[in-house]
Amino acid sequence: MTKIVNHWIGGKTVEGASGTHGPVTNPATGEVTTKVAFASVEEVDAAVAAAKEAYLTWGQSSLAQRTSILFKFRALLDANRDAIAELITAEHGKVHSDALGEVARGLEIVDLACGISVQLKGELSTQVASRVDVASIRQPLGVVAGITPFNFPAMVPMWMFPIAIACGNTFVLKPSEKDPSASLKIAELLSEAGLPDGVFNVVHGDKVAVDRLLEHPDVKAVSFVGSTPIARYIHTTASANGKRVQALGGAKNHMLVLPDADLDAAADAAVSAAYGSAGERCMAISAVVAVGSIGDELVEKIRERAEKIKIGPGDDPASEMGPLITKVHRDKVASYVEGAAAEGCEVILDGTGYTVDGFEDGHWIGISLLDKVPTSAKAYQDEIFGPVLTVLRTETYEEALDLINASPFGNGTAIFTRDGGAARRFQLEVEAGMVGVNVPIPVPVGYHSFGGWKDSLFGDLHIYGNDGTHFYTRGKVVTTRWPDPADAPAGVDLGFPRNH
Ligand code: NAD
Repeated sequence: MTKIVNHWIGGKTVEGASGTHGPVTNPATGEVTTKVAFASVEEVDAAVAAAKEAYLTWGQSSLAQRTSILFKFRALLDANRDAIAELITAEHGKVHSDALGEVARGLEIVDLACGISVQLKGELSTQVASRVDVASIRQPLGVVAGITPFNFPAMVPMWMFPIAIACGNTFVLKPSEKDPSASLKIAELLSEAGLPDGVFNVVHGDKVAVDRLLEHPDVKAVSFVGSTPIARYIHTTASANGKRVQALGGAKNHMLVLPDADLDAAADAAVSAAYGSAGERCMAISAVVAVGSIGDELVEKIRERAEKIKIGPGDDPASEMGPLITKVHRDKVASYVEGAAAEGCEVILDGTGYTVDGFEDGHWIGISLLDKVPTSAKAYQDEIFGPVLTVLRTETYEEALDLINASPFGNGTAIFTRDGGAARRFQLEVEAGMVGVNVPIPVPVGYHSFGGWKDSLFGDLHIYGNDGTHFYTRGKVVTTRWPDPADAPAGVDLGFPRNH
């Protein structure tokens, strides 16, 4: 019997009443294993109402209460790493070790949230004028929403809700409809940890559910992670409706390799970062820029390594790379490789014909490597989000930097070199939100924020870290005067108040 994934509202599972469902497929077999309920406007309203009701007490709860629940949640998450990873593999397709890695990176943000008391510490200035003190405090916003992509069904929601609820907000999550089960498991663990009903809610669905969250008057802020066109739409629509928004978009991450780099280390890094999770990572390296004479040697080293990658079902421990999320996406990724030669690329590896014995209906594609890619090629211009690595050649560092900075995306980038001066120059000159120096996927640790520039992020604040705390709270400044009973009355003074 097909499993049904329902909503989580007010601390319990709520069956979808709209009658609309979406299919969830196991990408390794191509089989529809699960149906996910799609929320109607009324169902989204019910989740927001539950969150609004819960905010009345959660917003007033003590830091000690909130963090003790988060510590319990952390322990449960730790104990359930495998169970969550299995759900991810079954619906996303990524290999188990990769799914475990995403849970671990999500857990880092829970760690951060457990220590929220330090981040929420206010500031106090005493005696700014005679017997006057000034305090700056930060308070929660109320009901906040998160809308998340398919490629990290556990980690990306955990970039958001631990900080949001630690700050005293209540949360409505709209996860990707393609792999919805991990979010429900997380909801159950939060409940088991003692989170009061309604503080964390999950509504599944499509544009109907998202649009209702964007316009709902009780939703005060929206965090989004997904593709650039939808990120732009979310930012525009939610901002027009008066909400605070952070909308992280797509990417085309470049890895610049200077002639003095350790080419073996660079090739290892390029292969790991390009083909890990079948390239379905916003921090995947999708364009290597080889500077000077090293191009041929680097491409050869990448080819040798890439050819050895073992592709198969994510629950097979021998697999290093799994299938793509949907058949439609597989075919789209293949189209970039199929059209590459006509666009002037040299096709070094073509993975389009790949299949896995016994899993013929899975969404398989093999490893593709395109060399001497012109910037006009679609394979360079678009975010492919698949196991296709493009290599571009330039004569100089300056030419490579201009090429990277001309990209509309600015999520992450990396430089491989032994020259500290060149690396320092690159980190200052490159237009991207996250920079790696001899590090291929610079996903910042939880206590530093994550976010891109240009078309990779719409809004002012990055996600998690200090930016996360700022996003989910608003500032208030309290000026206090306690006059001494011995003071003479100040009297009326219509002049503009001055400090003295
Ligand atoms: P997506 O934009 O298709 O979907 C993201 C979310 O938006 C989902 O919950 C989806 O249901 C919803 N959505 C989709 N179409 C919508 C519409 N027309 N109106 C309203 N809501 C809509 O993204 P995806 O395919 O799930 O994820 C892959 C993308 O996410 C890639 O572009 C990747 O780079 C990006 N991503 C970015 C980051 C980052 O940190 N910058 C991290 C992870 C993924």
